Amino acid sequence: MIKRILVTGGAGFLGSHLCERLAQEGNDIVCLDNFYTGTKENVSHLLNDPHFELIRHDIINPVYLEVDEIYNLACPASPVHYQLNPIKTIKTNVMGVINVLGIAKRAKAKILQASTSEIYGDPEVHPQTEKYWGRVNPVGIRSCYDEGKRAAECLMMDYRRQNGVNSKIARIFNTYGPRMAIKDGRVVSNFIIQSLQGKDITVYGNGTQTRSFCYVDDMVNGLIRMMNGNDNFYGPVNLGNPEEFTILELAQKIIKLTKSTSKISYQPLPMDDPTQRKPDITLAKDKLGWSPKMDLEKGLIKTIEYFRNALINV
Ligand code: NAD
Ligand code: UDP
Repeated sequence: MIKRILVTGGAGFLGSHLCERLAQEGNDIVCLDNFYTGTKENVSHLLNDPHFELIRHDIINPVYLEVDEIYNLACPASPVHYQLNPIKTIKTNVMGVINVLGIAKRAKAKILQASTSEIYGDPEVHPQTEKYWGRVNPVGIRSCYDEGKRAAECLMMDYRRQNGVNSKIARIFNTYGPRMAIKDGRVVSNFIIQSLQGKDITVYGNGTQTRSFCYVDDMVNGLIRMMNGNDNFYGPVNLGNPEEFTILELAQKIIKLTKSTSKISYQPLPMDDPTQRKPDITLAKDKLGWSPKMDLEKGLIKTIEYFRNALINV
């Protein structure tokens, strides 16, 4: 039977790849987006598919849809964009999530929440396991996102316990790849664009902070496995690539791969920028049989190729 699947935030970076995969697998896709950081262009290649529908809607307003599954990805993910209108960010993660859970409850749809490694804040436990409760500043400039996503996890669990909603939680760690927006502002796209344009590479702080980067195709596989897996396992589960790099190492790798003449320019470190981040993915391996396949260098080469073309067309 063909499943009807709602992807909120489906015109964004991750969402567009997810819509593409779910469409290839023969599902009926409803892609819903307010185009805050996503674009129609990201899904333009799907518009002629009779099994694909695109709706402009903001999840902070209720919407009535009949679907079997929901991937809730609606929320800007780049610190630059989620901090531009922080009240809107927390509304998306609370009011928006309540609305999307309302669909799940009424339509008896299964729902997967795109949560984040940010719920661990600036962690004292390394690598981060799902059992760790995190160290989040509740009143800082990242709180609209971190606390918003924590509230969203709470809502997923309370709708499960109180209303029997089949909700699942995946905690996504830094993911990159083609179709990140040119003005996204996250580190991988910033560094690639700066390198390709011969501009200074903006390393915030001294570049010793770490992140672990997962290629988008691996992440999409993980999200689909979590949705389709045994319903007795509902997470939270970490999804990410456990290979850890300093931001300075990332800059040097990208300079090398693009054969760039760019120099590194050290800029102030933003408030509450986590000093280290690396997922423990034991649970995802055990329960979902999932682990990422793409190593950083290969994934960067694909992403650099994408931006080379994208920059020609701007
Ligand atoms: P993105 O900014 O490219 O995509 C987010 C999409 O949501 C955009 O298309 C945007 O227009 C849409 N959106 C935002 N607010 C909305 C609203 N109120 N109503 C409807 N649509 C709205 O970011 P992404 O990297 O694709 O992230 C997708 C999801 O995954 C987000 O929820 C993000 O928090 C989560 N996530 C991503 C990463 C990552 O590294 N990419 C890491 C952790 C979590
Ligand atoms: N960063 C950087 N230069 C940039 C953008 C980001 O040095 O131009 C750093 C940022 O301070 C953080 C890391 O790269 O330590 C990852 O930032 P990003 O915005 O990609 O995501 P985060 O993991 O912080 O949400």
